[in-house]
Amino acid sequence: MTEILNISDNKYYESIKRAAEIIKNGGTVVFPTETVYGLGANAYSEDACKKIFEAKKRPADNPLIVTVSNFEMVNNVCYIDKDIEEKMKKIWPSPLTLLLKKKDVIPDIVTSGMDTVCVRFPDNKIALDLIEAAGVPVAAPSANIATRPSIVDSKDAIKELDGRVDAIIDAGRVKFGVESTILDVTKKPYSLLRPGAYSVEDIEAVFGQIYISPVAEGYKESSIALTPGMKYRHYAPSKKLFLIENEEEFREFISSDRSREFLVLCSADNAKYAKFDKIVLGKNAVEAAHNLFYDFRILDQSDKKYGVIQAFPEKGIGFGLMNRIRKASFLIIKDKENIDKINEVLNES
Ligand code: AMP
Ligand code: MG
Repeated sequence: MTEILNISDNKYYESIKRAAEIIKNGGTVVFPTETVYGLGANAYSEDACKKIFEAKKRPADNPLIVTVSNFEMVNNVCYIDKDIEEKMKKIWPSPLTLLLKKKDVIPDIVTSGMDTVCVRFPDNKIALDLIEAAGVPVAAPSANIATRPSIVDSKDAIKELDGRVDAIIDAGRVKFGVESTILDVTKKPYSLLRPGAYSVEDIEAVFGQIYISPVAEGYKESSIALTPGMKYRHYAPSKKLFLIENEEEFREFISSDRSREFLVLCSADNAKYAKFDKIVLGKNAVEAAHNLFYDFRILDQSDKKYGVIQAFPEKGIGFGLMNRIRKASFLIIKDKENIDKINEVLNES
């Protein structure tokens, strides 16, 4: 049985207390952060963390992020040098996760046997109150079932996880909609492991220039023109999603009869070009990030067979947004020559 915890004003402290009790007793709690919902358990307990992998059907070789609510907890879970300590005090709490050398108190299951741990100090009152009340760091990956879109609304958390976890904090929509940014600070140059809600521009203002591998854009391995890799999909809706990166090409496609069986996911500016059904993701990358995973779930519930989505400018959160869109796409059309690939795929399916 999953307890649904209400956080309206008169229930808030009671619910936080209950959620913390469940964590302390080795159970699992789904809770909001400023990025997406997390599925948390006591990071010190191997048995509790095992439940996270089971609930999410997550492969054991995909390690968990450890969330903390104060700097003492940070010191308990990892080794930090003076320079990094100063920087983390400047940036936290925020949606920037740091990869650091782990201390032995963190069991192998959390880090998939590696000697490093991802540490996150979220900027969300409910998350911080919960971790503080539990009194232990909370291992918490995104709350979705593995390969599914991340969860940004508690109603989707309840739909997907009722019966699979001990409790869900019913806190509505989250702020950003894409996961935290991950930065490896175990060695120089510091490198970006995953773009996300915290922008590269903001990282570099504190950490100096960082290394950004081409993989961060979200293409498979290298920037090849087409990525038909079912195998590499992630964050994905169940329906096949097609990304058309060239804006002119995108507008042409959605205004033609060829888009009849597609649900169009687009910006406010491009909505007028859609001949058939569309969802407006927002007027810019910030709004599109907020809505992306929510709208992937609407796509799955719609009567359309496929989705087609546009690209957004890759500044700020737009870089993390495009990483998620590319990873979720069944096919990426990078340039004009490849638009007919859509037909080939449709003919095959
Ligand atoms: P999520 O399920 O969205 O919370 O994903 C957590 C991400 O953090 C995954 O991409 C993990 O591979 C990554 N991660 C967590 N711990 C580590 C670690 N010790 N080393 C490298 N990546 C990590
Ligand atoms: Mg995830």
